[in-house]
Amino acid sequence: MRQRRPNRVTGPGHDGFWEYCAAGELRIQRCDACGHRSWPPVESCERCDHRQLTWQLTSGLGRVVSWCTFERQYYPELDVPWDTILVGDMCYERPLAERLLGWLIVIARDGANVLLGDPGRSYFPKSGVTKLATYNVQTTRELEDREIRETSVYRLAPDILPGAGPT
Ligand SMILES: [Zn+2]
Repeated sequence: MRQRRPNRVTGPGHDGFWEYCAAGELRIQRCDACGHRSWPPVESCERCDHRQLTWQLTSGLGRVVSWCTFERQYYPELDVPWDTILVGDMCYERPLAERLLGWLIVIARDGANVLLGDPGRSYFPKSGVTKLATYNVQTTRELEDREIRETSVYRLAPDILPGAGPT
């Protein structure tokens, strides 16, 4: 049976974050020299290495755009979690699409929620996916042949057949 992750990370930088949380405040570090905001907590600025950081109060509101789950085992006593994987625009070349899709199918069968973002690339799976949402994403003519690209997010079915990849 899989253990649950510890409730919080502690140590340099992190302790200050939890102290503010206990007081009902969500704060992140802001560099006093360059203004860069760092998350997770750091001992010096990620951009300029300045060591004077101020815990800046935030509104506590936000929108989840993306998140990650560590591939490398972060805690030795816990299995690698693979809770949710979001991969964007991986199907524009056959070798990349085939290699990633084979790996993602295995992860989905192990119980992970695998989400694929795709703007209609040639090597996107023709079956074994469920469309969840569609967005108009701004791009540039240097990358695409248009300025707005309709892009959808799909869920990879855990029972996708091995041959259901790019055709
Ligand atoms: Zn800085």
